[in-house]
Amino acid sequence: MKRICQLLFLSLLVAGCASKPQVKYVFYFIGDGMGVNEVIGTNLYNEANGLGNVNFTGFPVVNFITTVSANSLVTDSSAAGTALATGTKIDNGVVGVDPDGNWTPNLTEWAHAAGFGTGVATSVGVNHATPASFVAHTASRNGYEEISLQMIDSPVDFMAGATFLTNRGSGHDAAYFEHKADSAGIAVYKGPEAIRGLDVTKPRVVCLSAKAEDSLPYAIDRKGDDTRLADFTDAGIRYLESRFGKKGFFFMIEGGKVDYAGHGNDAATCFQEVNDMAESVDLALAFLKRHPKETLILITADHETGGLMLGSGRYEMHPDRLARQHASVDAVTDLFRDAFFPEGKPVKTPSWDAVKAFFNEQLGMWGDVEVSERVEKDLKDVYTRTFGKEGSSLVDANLYSVNYQLVADVIRALDRAAGYQWSFGSHSGSPVGLYVTGACAEEFSSVRDNAEIAPLIAKLAGYAK
Ligand SMILES: [Zn+2]
Repeated sequence: MKRICQLLFLSLLVAGCASKPQVKYVFYFIGDGMGVNEVIGTNLYNEANGLGNVNFTGFPVVNFITTVSANSLVTDSSAAGTALATGTKIDNGVVGVDPDGNWTPNLTEWAHAAGFGTGVATSVGVNHATPASFVAHTASRNGYEEISLQMIDSPVDFMAGATFLTNRGSGHDAAYFEHKADSAGIAVYKGPEAIRGLDVTKPRVVCLSAKAEDSLPYAIDRKGDDTRLADFTDAGIRYLESRFGKKGFFFMIEGGKVDYAGHGNDAATCFQEVNDMAESVDLALAFLKRHPKETLILITADHETGGLMLGSGRYEMHPDRLARQHASVDAVTDLFRDAFFPEGKPVKTPSWDAVKAFFNEQLGMWGDVEVSERVEKDLKDVYTRTFGKEGSSLVDANLYSVNYQLVADVIRALDRAAGYQWSFGSHSGSPVGLYVTGACAEEFSSVRDNAEIAPLIAKLAGYAK
Protein backbone atom coordinates (compact mmCIF):
# COMPACT_ATOMS: atom_id res chain seq x y z
CA MET A 1 0.00 0.00 0.00
CA LYS A 2 2.78 2.37 1.01
CA ARG A 3 4.56 1.61 -2.27
CA ILE A 4 1.37 2.30 -4.28
CA CYS A 5 0.93 5.63 -2.47
CA GLN A 6 4.54 6.51 -3.21
CA LEU A 7 4.08 5.67 -6.89
CA LEU A 8 0.88 7.68 -7.04
CA PHE A 9 2.60 10.66 -5.42
CA LEU A 10 5.53 10.37 -7.80
CA SER A 11 3.32 10.19 -10.87
CA LEU A 12 1.32 13.23 -9.69
CA LEU A 13 4.58 15.08 -9.22
CA VAL A 14 5.78 14.15 -12.70
CA ALA A 15 2.42 15.00 -14.22
CA GLY A 16 2.66 18.40 -12.47
CA CYS A 17 6.10 18.99 -13.98
CA ALA A 18 4.85 18.20 -17.46
CA SER A 19 1.66 20.25 -17.27
CA LYS A 20 2.80 23.46 -15.63
CA PRO A 21 6.22 25.01 -15.03
CA GLN A 22 7.47 24.41 -11.50
CA VAL A 23 11.18 25.01 -11.83
CA LYS A 24 12.30 28.50 -10.83
CA TYR A 25 16.04 28.06 -10.39
CA VAL A 26 18.16 26.08 -12.83
CA PHE A 27 21.81 25.11 -12.28
CA TYR A 28 23.31 23.56 -15.40
CA PHE A 29 26.86 22.25 -14.83
CA ILE A 30 29.04 21.15 -17.72
CA GLY A 31 32.27 19.29 -17.09
CA ASP A 32 34.18 19.86 -20.31
CA GLY A 33 35.67 16.53 -21.37
CA MET A 34 34.17 14.79 -18.34
CA GLY A 35 33.25 11.36 -19.68
CA VAL A 36 31.77 8.54 -17.65
CA ASN A 37 35.24 7.08 -16.95
CA GLU A 38 36.56 10.46 -15.79
CA VAL A 39 33.77 10.55 -13.19
CA ILE A 40 34.03 6.92 -12.06
CA GLY A 41 37.81 7.24 -12.21
CA THR A 42 37.53 10.19 -9.82
CA ASN A 43 35.47 8.12 -7.40
CA LEU A 44 38.19 5.41 -7.42
CA TYR A 45 40.88 8.07 -6.92
CA ASN A 46 38.91 9.69 -4.09
CA GLU A 47 38.36 6.38 -2.36
CA ALA A 48 42.10 5.67 -2.48
CA ASN A 49 42.79 9.13 -1.04
CA GLY A 50 40.25 8.99 1.78
CA LEU A 51 37.79 11.31 0.03
CA GLY A 52 34.10 10.70 -0.56
CA ASN A 53 32.38 9.94 -3.85
CA VAL A 54 31.79 12.80 -6.28
CA ASN A 55 28.55 14.36 -4.99
CA PHE A 56 26.55 14.14 -8.21
CA THR A 57 27.16 10.42 -8.75
CA GLY A 58 24.60 9.92 -5.97
CA PHE A 59 21.86 11.98 -7.66
CA PRO A 60 18.46 10.30 -8.12
CA VAL A 61 18.66 10.44 -11.92
CA VAL A 62 21.87 9.14 -13.47
CA ASN A 63 21.72 8.58 -17.16
CA PHE A 64 24.02 8.54 -20.14
CA ILE A 65 23.65 10.54 -23.33
CA THR A 66 25.13 10.63 -26.82
CA THR A 67 27.06 13.67 -28.02
CA VAL A 68 27.36 13.51 -31.84
CA SER A 69 27.44 16.84 -33.70
CA ALA A 70 25.76 17.67 -37.03
CA ASN A 71 28.85 16.82 -39.06
CA SER A 72 30.78 14.34 -36.92
CA LEU A 73 30.35 11.38 -34.62
CA VAL A 74 33.06 12.98 -32.46
CA THR A 75 32.08 16.44 -31.33
CA ASP A 76 34.06 19.45 -30.21
CA SER A 77 33.07 21.73 -27.33
CA SER A 78 31.30 24.40 -29.38
CA ALA A 79 29.00 22.02 -31.27
CA ALA A 80 28.24 20.07 -28.07
CA GLY A 81 27.90 23.29 -26.07
CA THR A 82 25.41 24.57 -28.63
CA ALA A 83 23.43 21.31 -28.52
CA LEU A 84 23.34 21.56 -24.71
CA ALA A 85 22.39 25.26 -24.84
CA THR A 86 19.89 25.22 -27.70
CA GLY A 87 18.77 21.69 -28.50
CA THR A 88 20.06 22.05 -32.06
CA LYS A 89 22.87 19.99 -33.58
CA ILE A 90 25.42 22.10 -35.42
CA ASP A 91 28.84 21.56 -37.04
CA ASN A 92 32.06 21.28 -35.05
CA GLY A 93 33.88 24.57 -34.56
CA VAL A 94 30.74 26.71 -34.87
CA VAL A 95 28.99 28.57 -32.02
CA GLY A 96 25.20 28.98 -32.02
CA VAL A 97 24.67 28.85 -35.80
CA ASP A 98 23.02 25.89 -37.53
CA PRO A 99 24.32 24.28 -40.77
CA ASP A 100 21.91 26.47 -42.79
CA GLY A 101 23.36 29.64 -41.28
CA ASN A 102 20.49 30.36 -38.88
CA TRP A 103 21.21 31.56 -35.36
CA THR A 104 20.06 28.98 -32.83
CA PRO A 105 18.27 30.57 -29.85
CA ASN A 106 19.69 29.43 -26.51
CA LEU A 107 18.65 28.97 -22.89
CA THR A 108 19.91 32.36 -21.66
CA GLU A 109 17.97 34.08 -24.46
CA TRP A 110 14.80 32.10 -23.69
CA ALA A 111 15.14 32.64 -19.95
CA HIS A 112 15.81 36.36 -20.32
CA ALA A 113 12.82 36.82 -22.64
CA ALA A 114 10.63 35.27 -19.95
CA GLY A 115 11.99 37.64 -17.28
CA PHE A 116 14.43 35.27 -15.56
CA GLY A 117 17.95 36.22 -14.46
CA THR A 118 20.79 34.57 -16.39
CA GLY A 119 24.40 33.70 -15.64
CA VAL A 120 27.36 31.85 -17.17
CA ALA A 121 30.59 30.97 -15.37
CA THR A 122 33.65 28.94 -16.32
CA SER A 123 37.15 28.15 -15.13
CA VAL A 124 38.55 28.94 -18.60
CA GLY A 125 38.16 32.07 -20.77
CA VAL A 126 34.78 33.72 -20.29
CA ASN A 127 34.42 33.68 -24.11
CA HIS A 128 35.68 30.09 -24.57
CA ALA A 129 33.52 27.60 -26.51
CA THR A 130 31.15 26.40 -23.78
CA PRO A 131 30.04 29.74 -22.23
CA ALA A 132 30.04 31.23 -25.75
CA SER A 133 27.52 28.55 -26.80
CA PHE A 134 25.09 29.86 -24.18
CA VAL A 135 25.37 33.48 -25.32
CA ALA A 136 26.89 34.04 -28.75
CA HIS A 137 26.49 33.14 -32.43
CA THR A 138 29.60 32.97 -34.61
CA ALA A 139 30.90 30.94 -37.54
CA SER A 140 34.05 30.07 -35.56
CA ARG A 141 34.67 29.33 -31.89
CA ASN A 142 38.08 30.97 -32.40
CA GLY A 143 36.52 34.35 -33.16
CA TYR A 144 37.18 35.31 -29.55
CA GLU A 145 36.80 39.03 -30.02
CA GLU A 146 33.50 38.79 -31.88
CA ILE A 147 32.26 36.47 -29.12
CA SER A 148 33.39 38.95 -26.41
CA LEU A 149 31.56 41.81 -28.13
CA GLN A 150 28.40 39.71 -28.43
CA MET A 151 28.64 38.71 -24.77
CA ILE A 152 29.04 42.35 -23.72
CA ASP A 153 26.05 43.29 -25.91
CA SER A 154 23.97 40.36 -24.64
CA PRO A 155 21.43 40.66 -21.82
CA VAL A 156 23.21 38.01 -19.67
CA ASP A 157 23.27 39.38 -16.10
CA PHE A 158 26.24 37.55 -14.61
CA MET A 159 29.33 36.37 -16.46
CA ALA A 160 32.53 34.90 -15.03
CA GLY A 161 35.72 33.35 -16.37
CA ALA A 162 39.49 33.66 -16.16
CA THR A 163 39.77 36.40 -18.79
CA PHE A 164 38.55 37.71 -22.14
CA LEU A 165 40.59 35.66 -24.62
CA THR A 166 41.77 37.71 -27.59
CA ASN A 167 42.95 36.97 -31.13
CA ARG A 168 46.64 37.26 -31.85
CA GLY A 169 47.49 40.19 -34.08
CA SER A 170 44.34 42.18 -33.34
CA GLY A 171 46.21 44.63 -31.14
CA HIS A 172 43.67 44.09 -28.38
CA ASP A 173 44.33 42.65 -24.94
CA ALA A 174 41.96 41.51 -22.20
CA ALA A 175 42.00 45.03 -20.67
CA TYR A 176 40.50 46.37 -23.92
CA PHE A 177 37.43 44.15 -23.42
CA GLU A 178 37.26 44.88 -19.69
CA HIS A 179 37.06 48.54 -20.66
CA LYS A 180 34.39 47.76 -23.28
CA ALA A 181 32.37 45.91 -20.62
CA ASP A 182 32.76 48.79 -18.20
CA SER A 183 31.62 51.28 -20.87
CA ALA A 184 28.54 49.11 -21.48
CA GLY A 185 27.58 49.49 -17.80
CA ILE A 186 28.89 46.09 -16.67
CA ALA A 187 30.67 46.08 -13.29
CA VAL A 188 34.01 44.26 -13.55
CA TYR A 189 35.43 42.41 -10.52
CA LYS A 190 38.85 40.76 -10.59
CA GLY A 191 40.25 38.27 -8.08
CA PRO A 192 38.69 36.49 -5.09
CA GLU A 193 38.65 39.47 -2.75
CA ALA A 194 36.95 41.84 -5.19
CA ILE A 195 34.53 39.07 -6.19
CA ARG A 196 33.56 38.48 -2.56
CA GLY A 197 32.73 42.19 -2.26
CA LEU A 198 30.57 42.21 -5.42
CA ASP A 199 27.74 44.76 -5.35
CA VAL A 200 24.55 42.80 -6.00
CA THR A 201 22.67 45.94 -7.05
CA LYS A 202 24.77 46.43 -10.22
CA PRO A 203 22.71 45.97 -13.40
CA ARG A 204 25.23 43.54 -14.92
CA VAL A 205 28.42 41.92 -13.66
CA VAL A 206 31.53 40.18 -15.00
CA CYS A 207 33.98 38.40 -12.67
CA LEU A 208 37.53 37.58 -13.81
CA SER A 209 40.82 36.34 -12.41
CA ALA A 210 43.13 39.04 -11.05
CA LYS A 211 46.13 37.38 -12.70
CA ALA A 212 47.05 37.44 -16.36
CA GLU A 213 46.03 33.87 -17.27
CA ASP A 214 43.91 32.31 -19.99
CA SER A 215 42.34 29.87 -17.55
CA LEU A 216 42.23 29.46 -13.77
CA PRO A 217 45.09 27.31 -12.44
CA TYR A 218 44.40 23.59 -12.20
CA ALA A 219 43.05 22.71 -8.75
CA ILE A 220 46.11 20.49 -8.21
CA ASP A 221 48.43 23.50 -8.77
CA ARG A 222 46.38 26.10 -6.94
CA LYS A 223 47.96 28.64 -4.57
CA GLY A 224 46.15 30.46 -1.77
CA ASP A 225 45.30 33.67 -3.60
CA ASP A 226 44.27 32.10 -6.91
CA THR A 227 40.70 32.58 -8.12
CA ARG A 228 38.70 29.35 -8.11
CA LEU A 229 35.55 28.27 -9.93
CA ALA A 230 33.72 28.16 -6.58
CA ASP A 231 34.42 31.92 -6.15
CA PHE A 232 32.52 32.52 -9.40
CA THR A 233 29.72 30.11 -8.48
CA ASP A 234 29.26 31.61 -5.03
CA ALA A 235 29.20 35.17 -6.45
CA GLY A 236 26.77 34.14 -9.19
CA ILE A 237 24.37 32.58 -6.72
CA ARG A 238 24.48 35.62 -4.42
CA TYR A 239 23.98 38.01 -7.33
CA LEU A 240 21.25 36.08 -9.14
CA GLU A 241 19.34 35.23 -5.96
CA SER A 242 19.46 38.82 -4.78
CA ARG A 243 18.30 40.26 -8.11
CA PHE A 244 16.05 37.49 -9.38
CA GLY A 245 15.09 35.53 -6.27
CA LYS A 246 11.44 36.28 -6.85
CA LYS A 247 11.19 35.38 -10.53
CA GLY A 248 14.01 32.81 -10.77
CA PHE A 249 17.20 32.35 -12.77
CA PHE A 250 19.20 30.15 -15.10
CA PHE A 251 22.88 29.60 -14.26
CA MET A 252 25.36 27.60 -16.39
CA ILE A 253 28.65 26.68 -14.74
CA GLU A 254 31.48 25.00 -16.63
CA GLY A 255 34.35 23.01 -15.15
CA GLY A 256 36.45 23.80 -18.21
CA LYS A 257 39.76 22.20 -17.35
CA VAL A 258 38.75 18.55 -16.99
CA ASP A 259 39.16 18.71 -20.77
CA TYR A 260 42.60 20.37 -20.56
CA ALA A 261 43.85 17.57 -18.29
CA GLY A 262 42.36 15.01 -20.70
CA HIS A 263 44.18 16.60 -23.64
CA GLY A 264 47.34 16.45 -21.50
CA ASN A 265 46.71 12.78 -20.48
CA ASP A 266 47.11 13.60 -16.80
CA ALA A 267 44.77 11.54 -14.60
CA ALA A 268 45.36 12.99 -11.10
CA THR A 269 44.98 16.52 -12.49
CA CYS A 270 41.82 15.50 -14.34
CA PHE A 271 40.26 13.93 -11.23
CA GLN A 272 41.03 16.97 -9.10
CA GLU A 273 39.28 19.11 -11.74
CA VAL A 274 36.18 16.89 -11.43
CA ASN A 275 36.36 17.37 -7.64
CA ASP A 276 36.82 21.09 -8.17
CA MET A 277 33.59 21.33 -10.16
CA ALA A 278 31.88 19.22 -7.50
CA GLU A 279 32.83 21.93 -5.00
CA SER A 280 30.64 24.31 -7.02
CA VAL A 281 27.92 21.66 -7.21
CA ASP A 282 27.97 21.68 -3.39
CA LEU A 283 27.07 25.38 -3.46
CA ALA A 284 24.12 24.61 -5.74
CA LEU A 285 23.07 21.77 -3.42
CA ALA A 286 23.09 24.22 -0.47
CA PHE A 287 20.81 26.47 -2.54
CA LEU A 288 18.56 23.49 -3.33
CA LYS A 289 18.24 22.83 0.39
CA ARG A 290 16.86 26.34 0.83
CA HIS A 291 14.53 26.08 -2.20
CA PRO A 292 13.82 22.36 -2.50
CA LYS A 293 10.62 22.50 -4.54
CA GLU A 294 11.81 24.98 -7.15
CA THR A 295 15.46 24.18 -7.83
CA LEU A 296 16.68 21.89 -10.59
CA ILE A 297 20.36 20.86 -10.77
CA LEU A 298 21.83 19.11 -13.81
CA ILE A 299 25.39 17.96 -14.36
CA THR A 300 26.60 16.70 -17.70
CA ALA A 301 29.53 16.95 -20.10
CA ASP A 302 29.98 18.07 -23.67
CA HIS A 303 32.12 15.05 -24.59
CA GLU A 304 34.83 12.77 -23.27
CA THR A 305 38.50 13.72 -23.75
CA GLY A 306 41.52 11.43 -23.99
CA GLY A 307 39.78 8.06 -24.38
CA LEU A 308 40.44 7.30 -20.72
CA MET A 309 40.10 3.64 -19.81
CA LEU A 310 39.75 2.15 -16.36
CA GLY A 311 42.29 -0.65 -16.42
CA SER A 312 45.56 -0.77 -18.31
CA GLY A 313 45.77 -4.33 -19.53
CA ARG A 314 45.80 -6.26 -16.29
CA TYR A 315 42.89 -7.34 -14.13
CA GLU A 316 43.77 -4.79 -11.46
CA MET A 317 43.87 -1.09 -10.69
CA HIS A 318 45.85 0.86 -8.08
CA PRO A 319 44.42 4.39 -7.85
CA ASP A 320 46.38 4.89 -4.61
CA ARG A 321 49.53 5.16 -6.76
CA LEU A 322 48.42 8.65 -7.85
CA ALA A 323 48.49 9.87 -4.25
CA ARG A 324 51.99 11.36 -4.49
CA GLN A 325 51.24 13.55 -7.53
CA HIS A 326 50.74 17.14 -6.32
CA ALA A 327 51.32 19.07 -9.54
CA SER A 328 49.94 18.91 -13.09
CA VAL A 329 51.99 17.83 -16.11
CA ASP A 330 52.34 21.55 -16.96
CA ALA A 331 53.64 22.43 -13.48
CA VAL A 332 56.01 19.43 -13.38
CA THR A 333 57.35 20.63 -16.75
CA ASP A 334 58.12 24.02 -15.15
CA LEU A 335 59.88 22.32 -12.23
CA PHE A 336 61.81 20.06 -14.63
CA ARG A 337 62.94 23.13 -16.61
CA ASP A 338 64.03 24.91 -13.43
CA ALA A 339 65.94 21.83 -12.28
CA PHE A 340 67.66 20.79 -15.51
CA PHE A 341 67.34 23.56 -18.14
CA PRO A 342 67.68 26.75 -16.11
CA GLU A 343 69.24 28.70 -18.98
CA GLY A 344 67.19 27.08 -21.74
CA LYS A 345 69.83 24.37 -22.11
CA PRO A 346 71.17 21.93 -19.57
CA VAL A 347 73.95 23.25 -17.34
CA LYS A 348 75.30 19.74 -17.41
CA THR A 349 73.72 16.42 -18.20
CA PRO A 350 72.17 15.06 -15.02
CA SER A 351 72.59 11.37 -14.26
CA TRP A 352 69.66 9.07 -14.88
CA ASP A 353 69.54 8.53 -11.12
CA ALA A 354 69.21 12.29 -10.53
CA VAL A 355 66.32 12.46 -13.00
CA LYS A 356 64.65 9.46 -11.36
CA ALA A 357 65.05 11.17 -7.97
CA PHE A 358 63.32 14.25 -9.40
CA PHE A 359 60.33 12.17 -10.53
CA ASN A 360 60.25 10.32 -7.24
CA GLU A 361 60.02 13.61 -5.39
CA GLN A 362 57.32 15.06 -7.68
CA LEU A 363 55.25 11.97 -8.44
CA GLY A 364 56.38 9.01 -6.38
CA MET A 365 57.72 7.21 -9.46
CA TRP A 366 60.68 4.94 -8.56
CA GLY A 367 59.63 5.50 -4.95
CA ASP A 368 56.24 4.29 -3.76
CA VAL A 369 55.46 3.39 -7.36
CA GLU A 370 57.66 0.68 -8.79
CA VAL A 371 58.70 0.97 -12.42
CA SER A 372 59.14 -2.17 -14.49
CA GLU A 373 62.37 -2.78 -16.42
CA ARG A 374 60.61 -2.44 -19.76
CA VAL A 375 58.97 0.89 -18.86
CA GLU A 376 62.23 2.18 -17.40
CA LYS A 377 64.08 1.28 -20.62
CA ASP A 378 61.58 3.30 -22.70
CA LEU A 379 61.77 6.28 -20.35
CA LYS A 380 65.57 6.13 -20.23
CA ASP A 381 65.64 6.31 -24.03
CA VAL A 382 63.61 9.54 -23.87
CA TYR A 383 65.97 10.81 -21.14
CA THR A 384 68.98 10.14 -23.37
CA ARG A 385 67.38 12.03 -26.25
CA THR A 386 66.25 14.88 -23.94
CA PHE A 387 69.81 15.53 -22.84
CA GLY A 388 71.26 14.78 -26.28
CA LYS A 389 70.93 16.66 -29.57
CA GLU A 390 67.13 17.05 -29.44
CA GLY A 391 67.32 18.65 -26.01
CA SER A 392 64.42 20.82 -24.94
CA SER A 393 62.84 20.54 -28.40
CA LEU A 394 61.75 17.00 -27.52
CA VAL A 395 58.26 17.99 -26.47
CA ASP A 396 54.77 16.59 -26.08
CA ALA A 397 52.40 19.24 -27.43
CA ASN A 398 48.73 18.94 -26.55
CA LEU A 399 45.91 21.35 -27.44
CA TYR A 400 46.57 23.61 -24.45
CA SER A 401 50.19 23.16 -23.39
CA VAL A 402 53.62 22.04 -24.49
CA ASN A 403 55.51 19.80 -22.07
CA TYR A 404 58.80 17.93 -22.05
CA GLN A 405 58.28 14.57 -23.70
CA LEU A 406 59.96 12.91 -20.73
CA VAL A 407 57.64 14.57 -18.19
CA ALA A 408 54.51 13.70 -20.20
CA ASP A 409 55.70 10.10 -20.70
CA VAL A 410 56.52 9.61 -17.01
CA ILE A 411 53.04 10.84 -16.05
CA ARG A 412 51.42 8.50 -18.60
CA ALA A 413 53.50 5.66 -17.17
CA LEU A 414 52.37 6.61 -13.65
CA ASP A 415 48.74 6.64 -14.81
CA ARG A 416 49.19 3.18 -16.37
CA ALA A 417 50.76 1.89 -13.16
CA ALA A 418 47.69 3.16 -11.33
CA GLY A 419 45.43 1.43 -13.88
CA TYR A 420 44.40 4.45 -15.95
CA GLN A 421 45.16 4.21 -19.66
CA TRP A 422 44.78 7.16 -22.04
CA SER A 423 44.05 6.39 -25.70
CA PHE A 424 44.97 9.72 -27.34
CA GLY A 425 45.08 13.47 -26.80
CA SER A 426 41.77 14.44 -28.39
CA HIS A 427 38.04 13.89 -27.92
CA SER A 428 36.23 10.58 -28.13
CA GLY A 429 32.67 9.80 -29.16
CA SER A 430 31.96 7.96 -25.91
CA PRO A 431 28.69 8.78 -24.20
CA VAL A 432 28.72 11.08 -21.18
CA GLY A 433 26.73 11.08 -17.96
CA LEU A 434 23.67 13.14 -17.12
CA TYR A 435 23.13 13.54 -13.37
CA VAL A 436 19.97 15.33 -12.19
CA THR A 437 18.45 16.21 -8.84
CA GLY A 438 15.83 18.58 -7.46
CA ALA A 439 12.48 19.69 -8.86
CA CYS A 440 11.28 17.61 -11.83
CA ALA A 441 14.54 15.65 -11.97
CA GLU A 442 12.64 12.47 -13.01
CA GLU A 443 11.67 14.17 -16.28
CA PHE A 444 15.27 13.70 -17.43
CA SER A 445 15.35 9.95 -16.89
CA SER A 446 14.31 9.30 -20.49
CA VAL A 447 16.79 11.75 -22.07
CA ARG A 448 19.24 9.92 -24.35
CA ASP A 449 20.98 12.66 -26.34
CA ASN A 450 22.50 16.05 -25.51
CA ALA A 451 20.05 17.92 -27.78
CA GLU A 452 17.07 16.81 -25.68
CA ILE A 453 18.11 18.66 -22.51
CA ALA A 454 17.69 22.36 -23.39
CA PRO A 455 14.10 22.14 -24.69
CA LEU A 456 13.13 20.13 -21.61
CA ILE A 457 14.66 22.70 -19.23
CA ALA A 458 12.85 25.46 -21.13
CA LYS A 459 9.56 23.58 -20.82
CA LEU A 460 9.93 22.78 -17.12
CA ALA A 461 10.97 26.33 -16.22
CA GLY A 462 8.43 28.00 -18.48
CA TYR A 463 10.90 29.92 -20.63
CA ALA A 464 9.63 31.77 -23.68
CA LYS A 465 10.65 30.00 -26.89
ZN1 LIG B 1 38.76 19.61 -25.72
